[in-house]
Amino acid sequence: MSEELHQRIKELENRNKVLTTATEQWEQLQKMFLDSQATLKKNEHDLREINERMERALNAGDLAWWDWEYKTGAIYYNPERARLLGYSVEELPRNFSDVVNRIHPDDHDETVALIRKHIAGETEYYEAEYRLQSKSGEWKWFYDRGKVVERDIMGDPVLISGVLIDINERKVAERELTEAHNRADAASKAKSLFLANMSHEIYTPLAGVVGMADILKQSELADEQREYIDIIVNSASNLLSVLNDIMEYIKVENKKVELSITPVNIPQLIQEISTSIRERCREKGLEVLLYIDTQIPDHVMGDPKRVRQLLQIFVNNAVKFTEQGRIILAAEFAGWDDDSIRVRFRITDTGIGIPQHEIGRLFDSFTRVNTKIGKYGGSGLGLAIAKHLVDLMNGVITVESEEGKGSTFTCTVEFDRLVEQETHLDASGLAGRRILLVDSDTERRTLLNDYFLVWDCETEERNSLQEAQDALLHQFGAGKPFDLILIEAGTWSKEDHETVNQLNEASWYRAKPVLIAPQKTDFSTNGFKREGFRTLLFRPFLPEQLLEALKSALSGETSSFNLIGDAQFADLQRTEKRVLKILLAEDNLINQRVALVTLKKLGHETDLAENGVMAVEQYEPGKYDLILMDILMPEMNGLDAARKIREMESETNSEPVHICAITANIHKEDEEACYEAGMNSYITKPFRLEELNKVLSAL
Ligand code: ADP
Repeated sequence: MSEELHQRIKELENRNKVLTTATEQWEQLQKMFLDSQATLKKNEHDLREINERMERALNAGDLAWWDWEYKTGAIYYNPERARLLGYSVEELPRNFSDVVNRIHPDDHDETVALIRKHIAGETEYYEAEYRLQSKSGEWKWFYDRGKVVERDIMGDPVLISGVLIDINERKVAERELTEAHNRADAASKAKSLFLANMSHEIYTPLAGVVGMADILKQSELADEQREYIDIIVNSASNLLSVLNDIMEYIKVENKKVELSITPVNIPQLIQEISTSIRERCREKGLEVLLYIDTQIPDHVMGDPKRVRQLLQIFVNNAVKFTEQGRIILAAEFAGWDDDSIRVRFRITDTGIGIPQHEIGRLFDSFTRVNTKIGKYGGSGLGLAIAKHLVDLMNGVITVESEEGKGSTFTCTVEFDRLVEQETHLDASGLAGRRILLVDSDTERRTLLNDYFLVWDCETEERNSLQEAQDALLHQFGAGKPFDLILIEAGTWSKEDHETVNQLNEASWYRAKPVLIAPQKTDFSTNGFKREGFRTLLFRPFLPEQLLEALKSALSGETSSFNLIGDAQFADLQRTEKRVLKILLAEDNLINQRVALVTLKKLGHETDLAENGVMAVEQYEPGKYDLILMDILMPEMNGLDAARKIREMESETNSEPVHICAITANIHKEDEEACYEAGMNSYITKPFRLEELNKVLSAL
């Protein structure tokens, strides 16, 4: 082969190689192209699917998205946005000014301000609720939330994106609800106002009925007449208490009750409540026991009037629903922290009880669960009022009850602490004293023992005086005589007379006797004296009265005779009747008559002034002990008359006379107005003997 040929073959072979490589590369390129096309297709498909899914989701949620090119004002959005406004995609303009023009005039400024604030970079995003006008001209509510998603190097927005949600249904429902609420509120306010105005009109004639019937009851009457009068008095009193409940319920329901925080003396409060039920309990033969935890300071900060009102509801129910047995009113310490102290008030009765399944709805208004037992009146509002009051005092109420056995209502109330929290109870001289308790009733003994434990006394208990006699003798013989013997007069029997004689002779083996007597006792004061008792403690008593009795007995003073506690006998002996000179300023004829006759019955002398001007004319410094002043009077009202009298007093430098307002209005503002005018107290119409007596006895 020639060299040239050889060369030619080599060249051809090389060209072939290049060609093969090029073909191979071409094929590879072709394959890559096909692959990438498949990937692109798949991506396109995935993207479409994602898009469709997103649209479906947005559609389902009535949700639209939008993009706003800030500089050009162009808007891009999904079809849902057009649909929500009732347009086709082609119809709805795609610029920002169309959006702004569509906003309801009432929502416009606020919405634009929110968007501007965000654009200025003051907020992370903006959100607004506003109405947009749809194609049909109808306004529809939307929720719009947007955010600048891109800014240029100067910080100016480039693109703002957001979502729009249809909230029309919710807004319409909300508006209807608000309107309904406003209507109900207005109706309720009108009702309250009507009742408040009516209360005056109702109380005044009722004053006439109650007052006159009260007076009639005290005159000479045949049995039959007395029975009728009792019915009138009872019915009028019931009507009055239902009316009071309703007025009070309206006040608490409308959140009209505010607490006025002042120092509260808990022992005093408990005593007042116990006094308020004394007569009814005496009539029903119910025993009242009090207990005040010695850890409770004398004064805490709270609203005494409201706490009293609250406890009175439970206590009145306890008396009402109990035919025999006892009522215990206890105040227990329930803990404290730096600022507050909790007190648990417990009211226990041995009455008819409440069925278990009814306990849950007791605090609903107008609920009365013992309706089968028709004899108990009531409005069914007491406990609903109590619930509101306890809520105001950050408290809780619990109820335990067993049908036929009795009920216990507990309410734990929070008070503010006072800096000086001491109790004035002085138990000095009692520590280590040995006390013998004679009572067959464990509940009564436990209450007493709780005190003795705190005062560091040693106690022993016996069921009867005979058993006690043995114990006295035995301990005396052992050189450890008792210091005190507390005998419950309720457990006294005929044979005890003999025992007491023997004990008297043995000088009670050094133990000083204290007799604890119930309200109703067969003994007279002289009877007790004859038996050799020097110290008598009447139930119900407070811890300080128990201490007083123990100390008085321990002092060994035999000449005096000490009646302590709720001592009715002592009360009678102490009070000397004083004739008061009273000026009554009252324009209503019936009220005049009721007041004049009542005051005369009580032995006081009364002058009458028919209006404020006459009252001022009749007033002379030092002439009257009391002025009873009606508030609403012609010519000059009671407040102005009181002010005038106070002025005259300061001009003449004379002793201020006690001015007591008589008012049918029971609102706090009215009460305050009386005090501001210089009055000292007030009683509400219809004016009752007990209320009047309270004012008179304070003079
Ligand atoms: P009222 O006593 O005016 O009917 P309340 O709201 O004070 O209304 O009481 C609601 C009901 O709860 C009463 O009617 C009574 O059935 C029941 N109740 C309340 N306290 C007692 C109690 N201590 N013993 C038995 N039942 C009670």
